[in-house]
Amino acid sequence: MPKRLGRMDEDKLLDRFEVAPGKRLHLKDHDPGWMGTPDLRRLGRDEVKARAHRYLEANLEQLAQAQELLWASDTHSVLVVLQAMDAAGKDGTIKHVMTGVNPQGCRVVSFKKPSTHELDHNFLWRYWQVVPERGQICIFNRSHYEDVLVVRVHPELLEASGLPPGKRGKSFWKGRYEDINAFERHLARSGTLILKFFLNVSRAEQKRRFLARLDDPDKHWKFSTADLHERGYWDQYQKAFEEAISATSTKWAPWFVIPADHKFVMRTLVAAILTRGIRRLDLRYPTVSAEGLAALKQARHQLESEK
Ligand code: ATP
Ligand code: MG
Repeated sequence: MPKRLGRMDEDKLLDRFEVAPGKRLHLKDHDPGWMGTPDLRRLGRDEVKARAHRYLEANLEQLAQAQELLWASDTHSVLVVLQAMDAAGKDGTIKHVMTGVNPQGCRVVSFKKPSTHELDHNFLWRYWQVVPERGQICIFNRSHYEDVLVVRVHPELLEASGLPPGKRGKSFWKGRYEDINAFERHLARSGTLILKFFLNVSRAEQKRRFLARLDDPDKHWKFSTADLHERGYWDQYQKAFEEAISATSTKWAPWFVIPADHKFVMRTLVAAILTRGIRRLDLRYPTVSAEGLAALKQARHQLESEK
């Protein structure tokens, strides 16, 4: 990242990761190992990393201020969706991007396999329960997209979910995309800024990270044979991601494909896109009425005249 980015340069840089609504996503056109423009790469990895860190820090400061404004103005909320293959760095991204924000106004919800109680409802039901309140930033660590990703890759999950019998072909999945778009449209209309990130890690980098977990006893707890099993479905997942993202990147809830092989690049981009998104809401601190100002003046007088 350059030392200082003008707003227009920044917009140009960040826009390249957005999936334009209606455009078909081809993941082969997105380099998971992207590390800056050719000009930047010439400076070498260490310099790019140092600049990325400075840019990240500046963004995190802005994010903390933006969050306070979000909280104070109490008209909007923010929903961040994180989706990725295992070991892409969802947890680390959450940890880094959320440093400095006030925990009172921020919540992370991680979604696992649905319970039988959850499966007894429509597929969006469990997400409805936890959408952010006004003033709040909520991060979905996995999300309603699992219902068109893991469930698409493993049709037996769908069969076990208790739906009425019917065909599960293309139009079934198209129906789910439409439901998701309608759900997100409703949230957006009600004041929720929705930003969705696909952390795009390469197959080779995932292997390297799995091996690192096996090499280091302190990282053994992070290794799961289930993750290795899912790796066997790599191509099916890529296809499911391509299709889901193409069908659900909308003006009101855009997807960003974030290069994830270099963690510093990934975290920096997510923080920058989130900060920019909140800034664009153009929020204002609530103004105090003339009556309110008079009450404040009276309060000052009262405090100052205390013995
Ligand atoms: P970490 O491993 O870093 O703790 P994780 O998000 O991988 O984070 P896990 O408990 O390992 O958490 O995995 C959660 C599992 O739940 C994933 O395999 C995911 O695909 C699955 N899951 C999430 N939502 C659904 C869903 N709607 N239907 C079926 N499976 C789901
Ligand atoms: Mg896992």
